[in-house]
Amino acid sequence: MSMKMPKTTQIMRRITQFGMLLYVTSLSTTHMYQWPGSQAGFLDAYCPMGGLEILPTFIATGKIVKHSDFNDIVLLGVLIFITFIFGSAFCGYLCPFGTLQEWLFKLRKLFVKANLNLKGKLATGLSYLRHFILVALMVQTTVKGPDVTLPFTNLDPYRAFFHFGREMTPMLWFILISVLVLSLVWERGFCTYMCPLGGFIGLVNKGSLTRITNTPKSCTGCGMCDEECPLGLTPSGKLDDTRCIMCGKCVDACEATGSLKVTFAGNEWA
Ligand code: SF4
Ligand code: SF4
Repeated sequence: MSMKMPKTTQIMRRITQFGMLLYVTSLSTTHMYQWPGSQAGFLDAYCPMGGLEILPTFIATGKIVKHSDFNDIVLLGVLIFITFIFGSAFCGYLCPFGTLQEWLFKLRKLFVKANLNLKGKLATGLSYLRHFILVALMVQTTVKGPDVTLPFTNLDPYRAFFHFGREMTPMLWFILISVLVLSLVWERGFCTYMCPLGGFIGLVNKGSLTRITNTPKSCTGCGMCDEECPLGLTPSGKLDDTRCIMCGKCVDACEATGSLKVTFAGNEWA
């Protein structure tokens, strides 16, 4: 049985993903267990999603919503900048919760090969759920005002996972377990259909300087890039860049013809 070796991009991606997973784990545990000499703040102070939720309240009142931090707004700005330059690479390279889902799915594939990922209009339609959740959370946070704890705190599976069993409620356990089970069925199921931050990043990605570009002249129509896409997208044709995570797997798959490329402001990335 021959084994496919990962390309350099994928090796770099895995190293970055592992590094971020380790970093967020250490940040969270350092704060929770107050290890000697530790100065790490609470996890909610390192959350660009929190920045999005609290931004309208901050603009309107100049106050920071309870259980969040001004740092969240700074991180949101950094995330928007990164996405504008590198596309949705935050999801493909940095987000530890995306990595966790991706690796759980890979683990499941070792035992059960079936690919149950949704495709086409159904997948596209369901992906709008992310935007609905995003708007609902922003409205709820704004309406409740700065003195009420951030509403998403009690629903956020990312936060729940990285609290490693602390500050959990039955509802949080239910959401976390459901999301992890979902990621065994659909690759990055939460990212694709539920993550409000992913929904936002997808919208910014539409205006990004970095893009996956297909040159129809040299495309043979083999469909290998579509087959490789973990999210069931179609980079060979019209790519839904609100869901693309810039993992680069489609570009690697197209190496032979070179039709698919990562471009920056219209020029091929070196
Ligand atoms: S979609 Fe959400 S959970 Fe998934 S990688 Fe992006 S930010 Fe992380
Ligand atoms: S279209 Fe390409 S870069 Fe985007 S998620 Fe699919 S394989 Fe990854």
